[in-house]
Order: sequence, then C-alpha cells, then structure tokens
Amino acid sequence: MNAGYDIAIIGGGPVGAALALALRGSKLRICVLEARPANAASADARALALSYGSRLLLNRLGVWNSLRDVSPIHTIHISQKQSFGRAVLHAEELNVPELGYVIPYPALQDALTDALQHTLSPNLSPARGRGKRDSAEEGSGKLQYITGASVTHLQGETDHAVIGYQQDGAKHTLNTRLAVVADGGKLLAQQFPPKVRDYGQSALITHITCSSPQAKTAFERFTPQGPLALLPFKEGYELVWTAPHQAAQEMLAWDDAKFLHELHQHFGDRVGEFLTVSKRTCFPLGLRRAPQQTPMPHVVLLGNAAQTLHPVAGQGFNMGLRDAWELSQAILDAKAEELGSEAMLAAYRADRRTDRDAGIRFTDSLVRLFSNDLPLISTGRAAALTALDCLPFVKKFVAKRMMFGANG
Ligand SMILES: Cc1cc2nc3c(=O)[nH]c(=O)nc-3n(C[C@H](O)[C@H](O)[C@H](O)COP(=O)(O)OP(=O)(O)OC[C@H]3O[C@@H](n4cnc5c(N)ncnc54)[C@H](O)[C@@H]3O)c2cc1C
Repeated sequence: MNAGYDIAIIGGGPVGAALALALRGSKLRICVLEARPANAASADARALALSYGSRLLLNRLGVWNSLRDVSPIHTIHISQKQSFGRAVLHAEELNVPELGYVIPYPALQDALTDALQHTLSPNLSPARGRGKRDSAEEGSGKLQYITGASVTHLQGETDHAVIGYQQDGAKHTLNTRLAVVADGGKLLAQQFPPKVRDYGQSALITHITCSSPQAKTAFERFTPQGPLALLPFKEGYELVWTAPHQAAQEMLAWDDAKFLHELHQHFGDRVGEFLTVSKRTCFPLGLRRAPQQTPMPHVVLLGNAAQTLHPVAGQGFNMGLRDAWELSQAILDAKAEELGSEAMLAAYRADRRTDRDAGIRFTDSLVRLFSNDLPLISTGRAAALTALDCLPFVKKFVAKRMMFGANG
C-alpha cells in the first residue's frame, strides 16, 4: 500500500495542532485536516484554565512565549454554599511559580495554528490568512495543513486507514498509516457510541467585572445547583456558572441587572459587588468516554474525541494535551513497520490509562458529590475541604494531580 501519509490528524483544534507541533522536525509525512476555513478565527467563547504542567508542555512545543492574553492563577479558593469548610491553595506551598493560567480558547488556538503555519514556512508573516493547503518539507518528512477540509468518512483497513473529506464541495480521499481523530468527538460517535453520563447541567460562561477583584485568585464554589468558578482574567473574571439546563436558559435571558444581582446572591461577597457582565453563552455538559479499544485498525482517538469532561476541575484540555504529548512520543519511538499497528496503539492506551481513568474519576466525583444538598453529604464535603486545607500531604497530592495528571 502506498500510504500517502504516515500520520493524518483529523481536527486542527488545540489538541490536534499540539500533536502536529510535537511531531514537527520528524521524518514523517503528516497532514492535519481542519474543517475551519483558512482565514476563520475561532469564535469559541470559552476560556480555559491551563495547569502549570500544560505550561511546561506548551513551552516544549515552542508556543508558551507567543501566547497573548494569559492571566496567571496564584491562589485557588474552594468553598461550598450554605455550609462550612473551605480550602485555599497557594502556588508557593506547592513550589511552583503559578498554579495555572487563564486564556481564551481562541488565543490558544491562534497561537498553536500560527506555530504550525510558521513550521510550514518560517519566512511567511503574518502566519494566518494563507492558502487552503500549505505544506513544508522537513528532513525527508512533509507536513501539510489542509483547511476547509471536513472529514466525512474514516475506515480502518488491515495496514492503513482511509479518510474521505470534502473541501469546497469536492470529495477527496487519502490513505494514512495512522489516523488520529482529534475532532472533538463527532465523527465516530454514531458508529462507536461513547459511554455518556448526562449531568443535566449546562455551563453559562461570560466575563464579569466586580468592585473588589482579588489579584491572581480563582474561586471554585460548589452549590446544590452545580459548581461556579471565577477565573481571574484581565481586570475581572471569566465566569463558569453551571446549572440545570432549564435554569441556565433562563439565566441567559435575564437582563444584566438581574444577572449581576442573582450572581451576587449565589456567590456571596468575596469579590464585592458585580458591576458588568459581557455576552453570555451556554454549553451543555456531560461526561463522554469513547471505547478504550481503538474502534478500527490504524485509528486512535485523542483529546475530547477520547474523553469529554465536565469543566469543574478544568481538566479537559490539560488532559488532551498530555494525550497529544504521549502519543507523539509513542509515534517517534515506533519503528517504521510498527506505526499505527495494534501493538503500538495498545501500548499507548496502556500508558494513558492511569491518567485518563484518574482524571475522569476525579472530575466525575466532584460533580456528583458536590452538586446536591443532602445534609450528610454536605457535612462530609465540609470535612473533605477542611482536610484539603489543613493536611499538607493531601493538598500536595490533589494539586499535583491537577497540575500534572496521575502520571506526572
Ligand atoms: C464551558 C467549558 C469550559 C472549559 N474549561 C476548561 C478549562 O478550564 N480547562 C481545560 O483544560 N479544559 C476546559 N474545557 C475543555 C476543553 O475546551 C476541551 O477539552 C478542548 O477544547 C478539547 O480540544 P480538542 O482539540 O480535543 O477538541 P475541540 O476543541 O473540539 O477541537 C476540535 C477541532 O476539530 C475540528 N473538526 C471537527 N470536526 C471535524 C471534521 N469532521 N473534519 C475536520 N475537522 C474537524 C474543529 O473545527 C476543531 O478545530 C472546557 C470546556 C467547556 C465546554
């Protein structure tokens, strides 16, 4: 078989682009197929909390210093509504310069895409606004970034995978030794349904300002309705307010004054009065776990396509980035004849299992244990928060897990 490519990455989102960057400089023939058109900036409204571990990985990918609009998190304050018990984590207790960083999704996406484009042609500037099919030769390898390319078909064969995609209404097909599905989880969902836990919650996200912002401090407040997070960003906070779907839809429709008042009632006084609120957007939330076993030969799932988590612990992208890094190492270590083989993919999955399972369990437990008002559970939660606050080894264990994952 003439494979065409060694690696084809379906989806040039933050995780797919990170994988492509981790593989640059190799001798592999790689393509990234991204559905968004070449000039389209990402309009995604969410902000992401990046862990300190992700900073280290983005630094290795050569992207960290080019990120714009990054706000550091130095302190995390965790509490629950209508109950005692709280925990505060400080960066210096954990011997790191910052616990994490807040960045808008489009800023992260742009930096990764620009780095990819820069790889394609270091002399071209500005990086965006270029052609639909850009490529670079590296060593004897080749990297192609194909935009406006919506993948519609994927089939695993004995020694390769076949990808069908549409670009400008025309159909194309390519073969690859390994197809990496990093599309966020839609392409294979019907054929190989993921395990889904519907939390019945949506996340309302927006930017707010307040009268007494606390510099570099993030707040996570658990309420019976669902968790609420304030992530420090610029002069205010990125708000992630989870609530049952119907309630979240109603919150979208409130006028600004009512929204700010209700937020104050819900969150309390820790940052003073809420002053302004920007455009509000809602995301339905759930846990989606794709089957562990690669559903087809020569195919692997990455990032949200492999697992989609509730944002309560800010783990989704951080885990996807670790997926991308570990997969890049497995690819670079593989002998030519092993690339995309079941043995190679089984070893990769085994390496990722502990981190993936622990991240899923941690996030899922937080949502389920902290989103109710049963008195006994509330007392247990208060005790858990107090233990987290008072016992340094517990604090270090939890913070290390959140920053570096279970393999870190
Ligand atoms: C409200 C909210 C808050 C969050 N907060 C955090 C946080 O604080 N920290 C954190 O770590 N994570 C957070 N997450 C999770 C994080 O957003 C995801 O884990 C991350 O975006 C996953 O990246 P990805 O590249 O796997 O998928 P995506 O971001 O979904 O990107 C997929 C890419 O594939 C492309 N694509 C899709 N279909 C096709 C196709 N058929 N053909 C070609 N291309 C295709 C898309 O255009 C897109 O570019 C949050 C999520 C939500 C909803």
